[in-house]
Amino acid sequence: MLIMNSTLTQLRCINCGSTTKASVAIAAGEQWMTCPACSPSEGILDIEYDLDAVRRSWEKRPLSDRPLNHWRYHELLPLAADQIPRGWQVGWTPIVDTARLAQELGLRSLRVKDDGRNPSGSLKDRASSVGMAHALQIGADTVACASTGNAATSLACHAALAGKAARIFVPHTAPEPKLAQLLVYGAKVFAVEGTYDEAYQLCSAACDRFGWYNRNCAINPVLVEGKKTAGLEVAEQSALAGEVPDWVAVSVGDGCTIAGIWKGLVEMHTLGVIDRLPRLLGVQAAGVAPIDYAMTHDALPEVGDGSTIADSIDVPVPRNWRKAVQALRESDGVVVCVTDEQLLDAIRLGGKHGIFAEPAAAAALAGIVAGVESKLLGAEDRVLAMMTGTGLKDIRSSTRAGGAPTRIKPSLDEVAVALEQA
Ligand SMILES: [Zn+2]
Repeated sequence: MLIMNSTLTQLRCINCGSTTKASVAIAAGEQWMTCPACSPSEGILDIEYDLDAVRRSWEKRPLSDRPLNHWRYHELLPLAADQIPRGWQVGWTPIVDTARLAQELGLRSLRVKDDGRNPSGSLKDRASSVGMAHALQIGADTVACASTGNAATSLACHAALAGKAARIFVPHTAPEPKLAQLLVYGAKVFAVEGTYDEAYQLCSAACDRFGWYNRNCAINPVLVEGKKTAGLEVAEQSALAGEVPDWVAVSVGDGCTIAGIWKGLVEMHTLGVIDRLPRLLGVQAAGVAPIDYAMTHDALPEVGDGSTIADSIDVPVPRNWRKAVQALRESDGVVVCVTDEQLLDAIRLGGKHGIFAEPAAAAALAGIVAGVESKLLGAEDRVLAMMTGTGLKDIRSSTRAGGAPTRIKPSLDEVAVALEQA
């Protein structure tokens, strides 16, 4: 019998609203998945906590006395207290104040939370570390996921840390650096000749057949709790800096990240860490923008044939669209769409201010630039951009944005000539 976090109360279906006591869900000893009363694609569960109990625990042991990683919020994670892998250094990524860039764009302030500095280089380490800890807690030996790349590399990283096997399904178009990372971490990688959706379906079926722990964020409610820690940190770090943002910009693919960040912000607001809530600026690629569509239609569009260089948000069928739309609406948020050209511009712009972002991460910045151009954002606004992954993840796009070096012979004259041509 597992001893659960005493702050955990129940699991609620976001579709039909029915609840299961956490103690019942745990006693089953299984991986928690979707609502038994709904279809697996609709009945996504949400984990709820007794926030008064969290507050009491934080009074006893204040956040200021805790290690600088995301395990500092363990009362808000669905893990047994003695199962927290404290040696895995995830989260508490820096928030960089880009004052020059704010000035350039005409914003009151612009800060960037750089989640590229997580162990495998992306925000997904937050979800994978919590998922891996949960897999260990329920005694799973093998973990699996389907991913456009970063979720998989982060899972492979944490499976390696835990000494467990990882099985990964990626579309065969996944960028090479991400594949290299997976293989170096020792994962078994299936490069599926098909779309992300086909890789996803295949992974789910394989988990059923072979009994693997399923790290698919969309249906495994534990994962979003890990992503939530980005929102918890934005709140706590903003409170410490004395500046709660008016807007938090984040790229949107599957919908799970923006929903998780919002959940974290709301919990910190309820707990009194921040005194007001930011609005969400969701950014989608213009070529693949189903959540933008769902905001006005309350349903997903017929699948189109668009594409984007931002592979991490190239998700035509987002499983978590309901959670994402709900978070955006609750925050009085807005979705903006950006083209690949705008993404490449944003990569260059970020680089000039010391931030090296992959296309999906630069999307947050591209969305802010678009928001300034459309006068959604202006001189009164304090904006925070979530940078979700390092530019080393997709060297092809980085190279496209950065251009080529100036090739010369080892001669000072050639340096002088090249400088004149510049
Ligand atoms: Zn349900």
